Amino acid sequence: MIYYKTAEEIELIRASSQLVGKTLGLVASMLKPGITGLEIDKAAEAFIRSHKGAIPGFKGYGDFPATLCVSLNACVVHGIPNKKEFVDGDVVSVDCGVLMNGYYGDCAYTFPVGDVPEKVMKLLRVTNESLYRGIDNAIVGKRLGDISYAIQDYAEKKHKYGIVRKLVGHGIGKNLHEEPEVPNYGKRGRGIKLKEGLVIAIEPMVNMGTKDVEQSKDGWTILTKDRKPSAHYEHTITVKKGKADILSTHKYVEEAIKNNINIKEVSLKNRIFADQI
Ligand code: MG
Ligand code: MG
Repeated sequence: MIYYKTAEEIELIRASSQLVGKTLGLVASMLKPGITGLEIDKAAEAFIRSHKGAIPGFKGYGDFPATLCVSLNACVVHGIPNKKEFVDGDVVSVDCGVLMNGYYGDCAYTFPVGDVPEKVMKLLRVTNESLYRGIDNAIVGKRLGDISYAIQDYAEKKHKYGIVRKLVGHGIGKNLHEEPEVPNYGKRGRGIKLKEGLVIAIEPMVNMGTKDVEQSKDGWTILTKDRKPSAHYEHTITVKKGKADILSTHKYVEEAIKNNINIKEVSLKNRIFADQI
C-alpha cells in the first residue's frame, strides 16, 4: 500500500534529505586521488551524527556496515567503503541516507575523480540529466510510468546506454524503502496516477555498456556484467502540481566541486527542460 504523506511529514523528509545533501557536499570537498572510501565514510558519519537526532540511514539497514555506499567504476551501487585509494580517472558513486525525527532522506551523486575521459564524463552527464527528466514528470496528472519512460527514453533510447533493471527507485518516508517501486524504464501513461503527498526517491542507474548486473561475493556490491563503468544520481522528491518539489539537493555538491580542483563539474548547462521539448 502506498502511504501518502502530510505536509508536516514532507517537511521532516525535506530536513533529512537536506542533511544528506550537505553530507554529500562534505564528501565532494574531500574527494581527490589518494583518499579512500573509508575516510569519506568516517567523515560523513561524524557529520551526520553532529546534527541533533540524526543518524546514518544505511548503517545497519539490512546489515549494511557503513554510512555511505561507495561504488567505483564498474560498481553500480551498494559498494562497501574500503581502504583502497581512489586514483586519477575513477568515477565514484556516493549514495547516502539519513534518518532524523523518524523520517528518511536519500540522495546520490557520481563524481569524476581527477582526469576522467570525455566518454565517461558523458555517461555521468546523461545519467544526471535523465534524473531531472524523470523529476520533470513527477507532477499531478501524470502517471508513474511517465517518470520511468522519460529516464529510459533519454538514457537508453537516445544515448544507447544500459539502464539497470534489477534495482529501482522507491517510496520513502518512515521507511527507507516504501511502495511504490520507481523503475527507470517503462511505458508512458502506465502505472499509478501521481498525486500530492507521494514522496519518492528517483534514482537512475545507467551503464556504459550492458544493462545486466551481478552481485559480488560480499553480498552487497552490484557490478556491471561487462565491467564497463556505471553512474547513479538520486533525489528524494514529492509530487506537486506543475513542478515537482525536490526535497534533497545537489547544491552543496555543486558548490564544493567548484572549489575542488580534483573534481570536474558534471554540467547540465545545456539541459532542455520538459516544457521546452
Ligand atoms: Mg540512495
Ligand atoms: Mg534510494
